[in-house]
Order: sequence, then C-alpha cells, then structure tokens
Amino acid sequence: MTEEAKFDVIVVGAGLSGLAAAYTIAKEGLEVLVLERGEYPGAKNVTGGRLYLNPIRNMFADLLAEAPFERYIANEDVCIMDEDRSVSVRYSGSELAERPYSSYSILRSNFDKWLGRKCERQGAMLVTKSRADEIIMDNGRVIGVRTGGEELLADIVIAADGVLSFTAQKAGLRQPFQAANFAVGCKEVIEMPRERLEAIFNLEEDEGLARLYMGAVTKGKFGGGFLYTNKESVSLGLVVGIEGLTAEMPRLEIHKIMEDFKQRPEVAKLIKNGESVEYSAHVIPEGGVKSMGKLYGAGILVAGDAAGFSMNIGITVRGMEYALASGYYAAQAAIRAKKNEDYSEDSLAFYKKLLDDSFVMKDFNSFKESLSILENPRLFTYYPHLLGNIMKDLYAVPDGAKAKIYPTIRKHLSNKNLMGIGKDAWRMMKL
Ligand SMILES: Cc1cc2nc3c(=O)[nH]c(=O)nc-3n(C[C@H](O)[C@H](O)[C@H](O)COP(=O)(O)OP(=O)(O)OC[C@H]3O[C@@H](n4cnc5c(N)ncnc54)[C@H](O)[C@@H]3O)c2cc1C
Repeated sequence: MTEEAKFDVIVVGAGLSGLAAAYTIAKEGLEVLVLERGEYPGAKNVTGGRLYLNPIRNMFADLLAEAPFERYIANEDVCIMDEDRSVSVRYSGSELAERPYSSYSILRSNFDKWLGRKCERQGAMLVTKSRADEIIMDNGRVIGVRTGGEELLADIVIAADGVLSFTAQKAGLRQPFQAANFAVGCKEVIEMPRERLEAIFNLEEDEGLARLYMGAVTKGKFGGGFLYTNKESVSLGLVVGIEGLTAEMPRLEIHKIMEDFKQRPEVAKLIKNGESVEYSAHVIPEGGVKSMGKLYGAGILVAGDAAGFSMNIGITVRGMEYALASGYYAAQAAIRAKKNEDYSEDSLAFYKKLLDDSFVMKDFNSFKESLSILENPRLFTYYPHLLGNIMKDLYAVPDGAKAKIYPTIRKHLSNKNLMGIGKDAWRMMKL
C-alpha cells in the first residue's frame, strides 16, 4: 500500500463485527480495507461458541446457508452446582430440532477464517498481521488510521477492534474502563472422537448440546460455566465478573477456578481422555446500555464488543449475533453516507437509528437492569445450596421411617428464608 492509500471504508478488526461490516460494504461495490492484527481472522478471537441465528437470518441469508457450523443445538442443559452435589435439568423441545435450526455451536478459528475468505471474494481487502496504531483526525473528524508508520485514509473508519477498542477510545467515544462493567472468560477446546462424544452426551449425527453451569462453579461470584459440543470436541469454559474476582483477598484467578471446574465430577467424567488443544482467555463487556459509550462520531462508527454489545442474562450468553448485526448496520450507515457524500456525525447518527429500531438496542434496553439483578450472590451460593439440600432429603431413604414430602421441603424454608426468597423474586421480576 502506498502512503497515500485511500479507501471508502477502513474496518479495524476482523472479528465477526468487522467482517460482517466489510462483507456488506464490499457487496455494495465500495472499497473496503480490513486491518487485523492477528495472523488470520479467528486466530485469537474467543467465544464460548453458541451462535443464535434467528435475529440475523435475513441479514446474511446467502452466507448462513454455507457457514461452517459445528452442531445445531437441540438440547439445553442447566447444571446447578453446590459444593458437593448438583441438580441438572435438560430441555429438548421439538422446535430446537426443526429446520432452520435456531442456534449452532461454532469454532471461531474456522468460522472467522471462512468469513474472511468470503469478504475477500466479495472484493474486500483483508490485511492480517497489521495493527491500527493510531487514528488520524482532521478538524474533529476521523479520516483514517496509522499502521506501522503508514497512513491509510478513508471516508469512514469502523471500529470493530473488540472489547478494549483502542480506536473508539482514541476517537473519544468510550467511557473510561470500570471493572464493574466487564467480565473475564476462559475456554478450552477438548477434542475427542466423534463416536465417544455422541455416546457421552447422547447425541445423534449433527445434533448438539449446550450446557450452562451455575453456582459453586464461580465460587459464589456472578458468572457461570458453559459446555458446547462441537463435531469432535467440546468447548468448556467459564465467565466471571472482574469486580467479583478482584474483591476477594487473595484475588481469585480465573485459570485456577477453571482447574477446579474441570475437577468437578460432573465435568471431569465428560472430558476424561479428551485432549486439550486450545486454551484462551478474554475480557467481555457486560455493563449493557448503561456503560455504552457513543456509537458514532464524524467519520467513525463503533460495532460489536467495541461498542459493548455483549450480554449475559444467566440463561444465555450472547455477543456474536450482536457483533454480526451491528457490523451489518454500521455497513448500511456507511453505504448511505457514501451515497450522500456526507460523513458528518449527523449523517452517521443513522447507524444509531438502525440499531434502536432493531433487536440489538431493544434487547439492551429490555435487559438494562440485568447486571445489577443477577449480581446477587445468593443466586450463586444460597439457592444452589438450598436446592441441593432439598433434593438430598427428598431422595434419601433413611434407616427408619421416611418423612412426608411436604414437611421434608418445608423444613428448608423457614418464614425468614421465605421472606428472603420473596425479596429476590421481586427483584427478578424486573428481568
Ligand atoms: C469466554 C467467552 C464466552 C463467550 N460465549 C459466547 C457465546 O456462547 N455466544 C455468543 O454469542 N457470544 C459469546 N461471547 C461473546 C462473543 O464472543 C463476543 O461478543 C464476540 O466475539 C465479539 O465479536 P467482535 O467482532 O466485536 O470482537 P472480536 O471477536 O474480539 O474481534 C475483534 C478483532 O479486532 C482485532 N483487533 C483488535 N485491536 C486491533 C487493532 N488495533 N488493529 C487491528 N486489529 C485489531 C482483534 O485481533 C480481533 O480479531 C463470549 C465471549 C467470551 C470471552
């Protein structure tokens, strides 16, 4: 590239948000450059691994028909863990097994690489091992980026550089980092032969399972564990709020929590004899709408995790389809701005309107209180303990006479306990 290189759009970051933007822009025939600091798209991108398709199906109908998915999720498991016992529930509704499937497990190293190739075939220019070091401003407008001493100019820059987005920060669009708004997650990919995996999880063909773990898995802190089945591996990991980790003395360390998680009998027997082939850790934005910065400015749009579009509401962890959708809407705003030759802040505010009218901001507004509600430590200690103890007593056959069922349950629920449960339930009603 020459020192004078100029593009219609430069996208910083080839994760899902950046690639979705680049694909949509290139499809429209505009000149788009994607800069990715990793060796290839997906090289360092971390996710648990479940992608929900319904909200984004219409945006990427052509792509999704041939995407490299692992397994469609036909079974939803929840495992509520106390210290030395757990209660599991499996949901396998017929709608989960109906085409088009609503969600799939994916491996980002395959998925992002494939999407990167699709972008290139559509005409986008993808440059890997290339980090945007600085943004270039002119009269308050972003007009390009500096990478390795080279100046690259564009009418619009899309910041899709992930959770700690330097690009949005330099453009003055981000709020300062606050631990309370972020979680840290880690994940291992554990390979095993297909037949063994299908036998362990009771799966057939491309059918898959998503299992969430809550309670003692995160040492009583807000967060949870996950297991997703891939074709010949499982993605196993956990997510814990950073504030919860750092509040303890000595500080809790995510990799140690992960080791304890893997030692739990409920997990250990599932991954026994599997081979760990990948370990990764990453920060996740969880502050929701209250912690979001500005999503656009003159010459710049912010998409995906860079914009704070990740959400953990306990039963679902979502970020990937928000990344894909926000990339798509950023592309629409860029295409419109290019047509009007207007790259001002007012013109790019169209991006926010598209997001506001879509599932993205509607979801973030609906669940704006979720973090403060779910940060209740009783959800991760008291309730798993209570549930475990009730189950223990219900199933026990003592050496004498067995107590009736109602008194067995009631003895765990004193009036004081019931008042506490009522209070928690009242707070949960805001979810
Ligand atoms: C442990 C864990 C579990 C998760 N589980 C799920 C799940 O099951 N389902 C779900 O939907 N979501 C999940 N998420 C969230 C989801 O992974 C993210 O929301 C999603 O990956 C965000 O995509 P993105 O493209 O915005 O950012 P990223 O995937 O982080 O991509 C950003 C890209 O920008 C590049 N980059 C950064 N800085 C620069 C620079 N200066 N120059 C050039 N390139 C740069 C990076 O290398 C990277 O490739 C999980 C996240 C974690 C960490």
